[in-house]
Order: sequence, then structure tokens, then C-alpha cells
Amino acid sequence: MNTGIQLAYLVASVLFIIGIKYLGKTKDARKGNFISAVGMLIAIVATLLTLDVLTFIEIGVCVLIGSVIGLYYASKVPMTKIPEMVALFNGFGGLASFAVALSDYYLKSETNLASLDAVNLTSILLSLLIGGVTFTGSMVAYLKLDGKVSGQPITFKGQHALNLFLLIAFVAASVLVFLDPTQVTFIVILIVISLLLGVLTVIPIGGADMPVVISLLNSYSGMAACATGFILNNNVLIVAGSLVGASGIILTQIMCKAMNRSLVNVLLGGFGQTVATGGADGPAVVVKEIGVEETAMLFDSASSVIVVPGYGMAVAQAQHVIRELMEQCEKRNINFRFAIHPVAGRMPGHMNVLLAEANISYDKLIEMDDINEDFANTDLVFIVGANDVVNPAARTNPDSPIFGMPILNADKARTVIVSKRSMGKGYAGVENELFGYPNCLMLFGDAKQTITKVVSEMKDMA
Ligand code: NDP
Repeated sequence: MNTGIQLAYLVASVLFIIGIKYLGKTKDARKGNFISAVGMLIAIVATLLTLDVLTFIEIGVCVLIGSVIGLYYASKVPMTKIPEMVALFNGFGGLASFAVALSDYYLKSETNLASLDAVNLTSILLSLLIGGVTFTGSMVAYLKLDGKVSGQPITFKGQHALNLFLLIAFVAASVLVFLDPTQVTFIVILIVISLLLGVLTVIPIGGADMPVVISLLNSYSGMAACATGFILNNNVLIVAGSLVGASGIILTQIMCKAMNRSLVNVLLGGFGQTVATGGADGPAVVVKEIGVEETAMLFDSASSVIVVPGYGMAVAQAQHVIRELMEQCEKRNINFRFAIHPVAGRMPGHMNVLLAEANISYDKLIEMDDINEDFANTDLVFIVGANDVVNPAARTNPDSPIFGMPILNADKARTVIVSKRSMGKGYAGVENELFGYPNCLMLFGDAKQTITKVVSEMKDMA
């Protein structure tokens, strides 16, 4: 491959790394995205110039079809469904690596058996395994997240033993392929095993652990792309795949920590089986309601406010009216901040994205570890559509499925107001004892509608 193209790949790889560095800070994330996108453009153009397999017309037609489908879905998908979309992206990434591995095997076994050396065969087998697991695993994750199949863990006796057996069978069949690469039967066995393993490893994982799984599958899709890079002898694919693989693993670790799960515990599955039974929840909580006017009065008299946004804020699209609430409070010199839990909402960074969309400045968004101590000295905590991330059962109830998950200490504030529509549960499906605490008041109704009324009351008071 000529030096110009290798140099372009090098520039693209450096831009990817700089882009990821910028993505680490919310304030610079757009810049990071742009830099990485430029890197990707350079990589694509350089790859097209090599013109290895397809003509420009064939490539153009494929790009057009992909872009139309992508644009259609991206413009239709609501923010609350982004995790499902990410699951599909991961799955198709895995499927692409899987397909490249198969076609490379097919081409070489038909025409150039000698080129199927140890490195090439290992890359093909790894691409098949990781790509296959990523594809079917992501499809199951998508179906679970979208509610098309139950989010409950599906477990059966001997599940882990079966997974182990399949993995050993994969290794055994791989050895046989090494001994005789022309044996298509073994390749078929490998295909079936890898697709089956994806399904079997994700079905025992419960809904509450799905964010971790999505992040892990994202990492797998990177590793599959990296293996594909070795098959195609494409350096930029190897670098980009490794970056996705490594950053996915780091994010997985961060999320495990935020949910107090070990990765092994997540992967072995079965977590959350008791969630829907309510068995660990204890008696139903008795709550006190508050109206719009009293809520406005409490805001008016507070000197410090922390808003805890959660999934319900995304559903209600209440971020813009919350900005108006913030403006009203700041007019009154109230110290107004947001407490961001790492898994609030339905995807990492969900709340940051929504609040940024409403032009709320980044320095108002405080991460959990930096704000948790401050709740005890705060006059008013306003919980908007958050539930699991403020559930004290995570600290107090060892029988609760969310026990051990770090939470925002909203309950420690002087007064807590919760904006939600009903006594509906959160993602983990457990009762929230905070709603029955003496310092907690429930403001029932759709968050956007009720907060709009609170803001208009506050405007009238001013
Ligand atoms: P939860 O899912 O725990 O709770 C959301 C609450 O929002 C519900 O109790 C619901 O109550 C309320 N709600 C829904 N619609 C509205 C509305 N229109 N107006 C007002 N309230 C509304 O959200 P959290 O953000 O607290 O927790 C996130 C959960 O999701 C965690 O368990 C996390 O593990 C999980 N998760 C996180 C992912 C991530 O990467 N961030 C990905 C996938 C899952 P009601 O029906 O009564 O209105």
C-alpha cells in the first residue's frame, strides 16, 4: 500500500485519539466529535483511493442506501430511544466484521488457500466469534430495551456450563479449521456457536444491568473491527477498532462502579430477578402531595436548590422549562445547580446532553461524587423524573436489588420535591422509600406541564 495512504491513516488515527481526549469533557465534546469526524473522513477517502475491491459506483450506491436509511432513523428516533439505537449500531458493527471474515475466508479458500496463514486464520476466527457474539447479543439487548421481549433475566439450570461448553467447542472447531482450512463444515459450526453464544450471554442479564451490557457490546464491536483490520491488512481499522474496544471497556468499568456491580457479576447474569416481585420492597409508602403554588413558594423562599434530573425529564422533554425555572431562581439569587448521576436516564451522558440542548451552562452540572456532600446543606432538592438514582434503599436495604448502587443523597436535604406522574416505579422496578420520608413532597403530573405552571406562578410572584 502506498506511503501517502499510510500517512493519511496515521493522521486519521491521531485525530481519533485527540477527538477522544476532547470527548472526556462535556464542554469540549462537540469539538472532539468534529475532530474525530474529520479523522474518519480522511480514513474513508484514503481507503476509497486504494480501490481494492469495489468500483466507485458500487461504493457510491452502498453509501447512498446506508445514508438514506441512517438519516431516516436518526431523524425519527426520540432521545429516550437512543440506547436502543446504540444497541442496533453495535450489532450491525459486529455483523459487518462477521461478514468480512466470512467473505475473506470464502475468497481465499476458493482461490488462494496458501494465503490463509496462521495470522489470517486467527483474525478470521476472532472476527467470527466476536462479531457473531456482538451481533446477536446486541439484538437481544435491543429487544429487551425496546420492551419487545421481557427485560427480566432469562435463566435456566446449567446455563453457565452450556456457555463454557460452547466456548470450548469453538476452540476445538477452530483447531480443526487450522488443521484443514478447506473444511467448510467446521466454519458452519463456528458460525452457529458464535451466534448462539451472543444470545445465551445476554438473555440472563436483567434490565437494570442493560446499560453495562450495551457499553460492553460496544467494546466488543471495536474488538471485532480490530480483528477485521488484521484480515484486511488495514491499519486505520486496527487503530480505530482498538480505540473503540479500549474506551468501551473503560466506560463499562465506570458504569459497573456507578451501579456497584462487578463485571463478572453482570456477565454471569440473573441480577434483578426479584425486581418485579416486589418481595424486597417492604410495605407501600405513604406520601404527602404538594401543589403548584406551594412548590413555587418553596422555591421563592429557598437560598439553595439542587435539581436531580432523571429519565422522566427526558420523557417529558422538560429541560427547557427547567432552564426557565433556573432563570427565575437566579433572579432571586438562589444558588441553583444540577446533580448528575452517571446512569440517570437511559444512556451515559443522557442528562448532560438534554440540559446542554436547553443551553444550561456546563458548570451548573455537578457530578455525583462532587455534590453528594452538599445535599445536607441544601434547602430544596427538586427531583424531576428521577427515581432509582435517588432511592435510599440502595444504601439501607440489603434485600433490594439495587442495594450497593451509589446514589445521589437527595434525601438528606431539608426539603425534597419529587416531580413525577404517579407512584410508578423506575427502571429497576422497585418501590422508592424516599417518597414516604417526612421531608419529601410529591408534585404529581407530567414534569413539563407542572414545572411550566410553577414557573408561571413564580413570574406572578416577582
Ligand atoms: P428511573 O427509570 O428510575 O425513573 C424514571 C421516573 O420518571 C419514573 O419513576 C417515572 O415515574 C418518571 N416519569 C416518567 N415519565 C415522566 C413524565 N412525563 N413526567 C415526570 N416523570 C416521569 O430513572 P432514573 O434516571 O432515576 O434512573 C435510571 C435508571 O435507568 C437506573 O436504574 C439505570 O440503571 C437505568 N438505566 C440507565 C442507563 C444509562 O446508561 N443511563 C441505560 C439503561 C438503564 P411515573 O411513571 O410515576 O411518572
